[in-house]
Amino acid sequence: MKVFLATGNKNKVKEMKQILADTEIEISSQADIGTFPEVVEDATTFTGNALKKAREFGQHTKLPAIADDSGLVVEALDGQPGVYSARFAGEDATDEENNQKLLDSLKGVPMEKRTAYFSCAMAFVTPEGEEKVVQGKCEGRIALEPKGEGGFGYDPLFIVDDYEQTFAQMGSEVKNQISHRANALEKIKNFLVDWKVSK
Ligand code: IMP
Repeated sequence: MKVFLATGNKNKVKEMKQILADTEIEISSQADIGTFPEVVEDATTFTGNALKKAREFGQHTKLPAIADDSGLVVEALDGQPGVYSARFAGEDATDEENNQKLLDSLKGVPMEKRTAYFSCAMAFVTPEGEEKVVQGKCEGRIALEPKGEGGFGYDPLFIVDDYEQTFAQMGSEVKNQISHRANALEKIKNFLVDWKVSK
């Protein structure tokens, strides 16, 4: 059974294929279809954006489609940057600019109040209109300065609970087992396996 993964991010495609390797679910992605719709991620929640992408790509490909939306939620900043994580410091902001803005926004905030979590909403939509959304979460704190070389986005500033290392320090193998995305992928996998059996 083919499912379309609505993302241009090759790492996400690879991660998803690995997680579904022991199932009969085959992942197809943008690289396999040529043209694809430009989806504006303007919803105010991760779930809203994930559903929007899955619906539009599903309509375009006529395949069941999966899409995700994720970001960082910082409690001392009332949930910011949230759905604006990619553009926290401006429309075309770099990871470094976003990280610097985060550090500036938390200036003077002590370690015990720098709690945060990454959230990932993953939506599955079929051409018949069936819809399912799952959520993944990874909790931690925002470091006082960047640490580690790996990863992307806010990885150098996110210290994972129970690890005392940032995502950027721990390496992708460990990160991909405990991240918000891994957590959501595991849930969607369980759903898909049951869903396929019921077909
Ligand atoms: P997307 O949902 O994967 O497009 O992520 C939106 C934004 O959230 C990214 O541009 C990053 O700023 C941030 N983000 C999401 N997941 C991660 C992660 O695993 N590490 C660091 N930053 C992330």
